[in-house]
Amino acid sequence: MGMIHRGLRSLLLSELLTGMSLTLRYFFRPKVTLNYPYEKGPLSPRFRGEHALRRYPNGEERCIACKLCEAICPAQAITIEAEPRADGSRRTTRYDIDMTKCIYCGFCEEACPVDAIVEGPNFEFATETREELYYNKEKLLANGDRWEAEIAQNLTADAPYR
Ligand code: SF4
Ligand code: SF4
Repeated sequence: MGMIHRGLRSLLLSELLTGMSLTLRYFFRPKVTLNYPYEKGPLSPRFRGEHALRRYPNGEERCIACKLCEAICPAQAITIEAEPRADGSRRTTRYDIDMTKCIYCGFCEEACPVDAIVEGPNFEFATETREELYYNKEKLLANGDRWEAEIAQNLTADAPYR
């Protein structure tokens, strides 16, 4: 009986028809895949991506060189040097992050009293060499300038939960 049943199924192409009907059913349903990189999925405001150093709206750097981020970084990825300016304010002369060491824990962002160092929404920063992942202050400030609108929006969205 089993052999006859299997033979009939093969003869009538029932497995093929079952497969085709399944394909047809899903053909008209909304797609669950994205056409990356042209389409991107939603990101949480808490997403921890590429680092950035932010400025105030007047262009002044937010970072006050307190070195809390450097102290808390468990990967010891941050290196800061600082000295006072002529006006008495304290600013960094060097702010490096070794992104090859970073584990994206977000502690630096949490420790910063002035929301200067943040992990922004950018996740597309793969490189071909390790050297490109040694970020300096210019690179971090440029990231901040580029992503400021999104970063400010994310911080505002997350503020009620902090
Ligand atoms: S995210 Fe974590 S590991 Fe990376 S620089 Fe900040 S504190 Fe260090
Ligand atoms: S980024 Fe923030 S925590 Fe780090 S040195 Fe500057 S002000 Fe301090």
